[in-house]
Amino acid sequence: MSARWFVKKAARRSVALGSFVTGTVGARTLAASGPRARVLTYHRIGHEPREPFCVSPDAFEAQMRFLSERRLAVNLDQLLAFVAGREALPDGACLVTIDDGCVSTLTEALPILRRWGVPAIAFVTSSLAGLDPEVLPERYLSWDELREVADSGFIEIGSHAHTHRALGAMPPEEALEEARTSKATLERELGREVRAFAYPFGTYGDFDPVTERALADVGYRIAFNSMHGVVRSGMDPISLPRIKVEGGEGLVMFRLLAGGGMDAWRVVDRNLWRLQRVREEIGK
Ligand SMILES: [Zn+2]
Repeated sequence: MSARWFVKKAARRSVALGSFVTGTVGARTLAASGPRARVLTYHRIGHEPREPFCVSPDAFEAQMRFLSERRLAVNLDQLLAFVAGREALPDGACLVTIDDGCVSTLTEALPILRRWGVPAIAFVTSSLAGLDPEVLPERYLSWDELREVADSGFIEIGSHAHTHRALGAMPPEEALEEARTSKATLERELGREVRAFAYPFGTYGDFDPVTERALADVGYRIAFNSMHGVVRSGMDPISLPRIKVEGGEGLVMFRLLAGGGMDAWRVVDRNLWRLQRVREEIGK
């Protein structure tokens, strides 16, 4: 566990620094291809040492302050307009997203987002609202709490499927039903349109053209996977990459990844199945 933590942190650091040195990040690529936006993925905000899915409140605050002071934080409307070619964004604009709908979205993230005026989307798994899963240190937000989050004006609620299973691994009709049921349930409980979807897991094999079609067919306007990469004007809004923000990393690493330092991690995403097999072989 510990060795893997340090190996992965070292790998993320070297990818981030390497892309900076080789000029993936910088004026040269900007001139060639126009502004790039990034969608940042968070999960839980709290105190869980050496847990990549949990960012400390202090780190989250420093990150939101950075985005706010540099006027890089954008909301879903702005990203939709940017992708459709209707609105320009500054290069390096970021949309904050928080997956899973855990209680720290309300108790930790919301006050910080409010303080710095940073908009966000929380992706909620509709069948899990209010449940207390044994596998996580936090429970999921109840419907009352989700309404409080949605009413805050800072966090829009999106769908993270109905049951948090990989859509790409189920028959097409079942994936369609996941997409439809979660949208209908969230809209019924929250009384507002659910426009965005984020795939559970979201890496290789968790989504494909069939699931993308299903999401568009049931009325989602934008969908995110977990492959790393940038968002550019003209991309298909139903298949957008994100950049994962992990716990245990300082503001320097955040500034690198928000500026493009982790875009190249996509290579790791594509080959994740191979890494996982290696992990099984070494028993970790
Ligand atoms: Zn999730």
